Amino acid sequence: MTIGVKKVSLQRSMRDQIFLPAILEGLLTSARHFFKNTMTKGMGDVDTIRYGEPDVDPKTYYPARYRGVHRLMHREDGSVRCVACMCCSTVCPAKCIHIVAEDRRDDAEKAPASFVIDELKCVVCGLCVEACPCDAIRMDSAQHMTPTEERAEAVLGKIELMSRGSRSVAVQGGHGADYRATEPAADPRFPTAR
Ligand code: SF4
Ligand code: SF4
Repeated sequence: MTIGVKKVSLQRSMRDQIFLPAILEGLLTSARHFFKNTMTKGMGDVDTIRYGEPDVDPKTYYPARYRGVHRLMHREDGSVRCVACMCCSTVCPAKCIHIVAEDRRDDAEKAPASFVIDELKCVVCGLCVEACPCDAIRMDSAQHMTPTEERAEAVLGKIELMSRGSRSVAVQGGHGADYRATEPAADPRFPTAR
């Protein structure tokens, strides 16, 4: 069997090269929508939402599965639930999560000494939430990132992320709040080999 090669001409027409017709088409489309919305409907009937106004109940314009600003969840004692496993920072396609780990004083787990998310680099994919093994990071805050004038204000640290968080009641490690207290139950799908 022979495989043919199809040659495609990359030559653009004069119309494509000067861009002017495309620009005019875009302007005409914008003008058409502008006059349709303001003249025929009237300003009060324009199909839009009151985005980002603080006096508006977020539930009225954020859908239930909206991904908002990140928050870090807490343990029962109020400490951060994150164990600094780096799963979220590894999976993040925007490379905007930066974690420095430290040992926890009360047990063998680690915790983040610093946990920083650059919300301006974030592409709001939610992969960090999916990757987290212990419900330590969420984006269900129903808050969008507030516009900032300073670049640094969009870089959120552990304290700020925790202030938005709350106690998680998820089962950590698959065996209750203190999963080290008892041996994990046998999984019936995987009978013990004899
Ligand atoms: S939502 Fe996506 S881009 Fe944003 S921090 Fe999480 S993994 Fe990174
Ligand atoms: S937030 Fe979750 S995934 Fe990210 S380092 Fe902490 S425990 Fe790991």
